[in-house]
Amino acid sequence: MMVCGFALALFAMDVSGQPALATNAVFATSSATDPTRSDGTQLTKPPLHSESAPLFHSFNSGPSHEKLIALTFDDGPHAVITPKLLDVLRAYKAKATFFVLGERVKLYPMILRQIFDEGHEIGNHTYSHRSLAALSTEEIEHEIIETQSLIKQATGYEPSLFRPPYGAFRSNTRPVFQKHNLNVIMWSVDSKDWSVRNENKIYDVVITHARSGSIVLFHDIHPAILDALPRILDTLVADGYQFITVSELCGLPPLAPLAPPATRLESLSVK
Ligand SMILES: [Zn+2]
Repeated sequence: MMVCGFALALFAMDVSGQPALATNAVFATSSATDPTRSDGTQLTKPPLHSESAPLFHSFNSGPSHEKLIALTFDDGPHAVITPKLLDVLRAYKAKATFFVLGERVKLYPMILRQIFDEGHEIGNHTYSHRSLAALSTEEIEHEIIETQSLIKQATGYEPSLFRPPYGAFRSNTRPVFQKHNLNVIMWSVDSKDWSVRNENKIYDVVITHARSGSIVLFHDIHPAILDALPRILDTLVADGYQFITVSELCGLPPLAPLAPPATRLESLSVK
């Protein structure tokens, strides 16, 4: 059994749309053994909390003792950019995590299936990309449930990761995430691809800030990422980094989809 320590970030509501880092603490958890499917890929199921006190889990980075980075791509799948991005990731043997929108999964279920089949992780990024800070609890649940359902229809797999659009949500939304066994995943490096839309600037931002344990935010809807990513990977691979999924980085238990939980994750406790 492997024991790791991770940063736990608790985010509070921020009406400006930016996540407010309220608390940083360290907790210890034990990871389950790593069953793999017959095709060799590893997938995640939600951690099983104790019935009495489910905790709110949010990560903006992973442990820093190994040269591991989680690349994340939001707002897709995109009909053209996502398949090209998959080609790049395959060429570098890099695994990534895609936070997808339900309304785009509905349009491109086969691209989602390709992401899944190539061993990447899939997370829920809501159905329509509205800020959760502006929605009622019922609307938030609808956004989550609809997207979980579409992802499951396309892949047979129900995500355990959620990223709120704009990183924004009210603190009283946490029980909704807990109810649906979703870990909230933020980021520690913003590539700014959504604003600069320029290959050289994206490269500079990421190379300047990426380090062991980083969760890097990209969007697979901007073409500049296709030119920037190979250069980023060239540099970081030469520096000795490897690229793994968010669940792998954060020690969340990988389990086969549609299979009964093999191991019960011990409940997490904040020190
Ligand atoms: Zn987004």
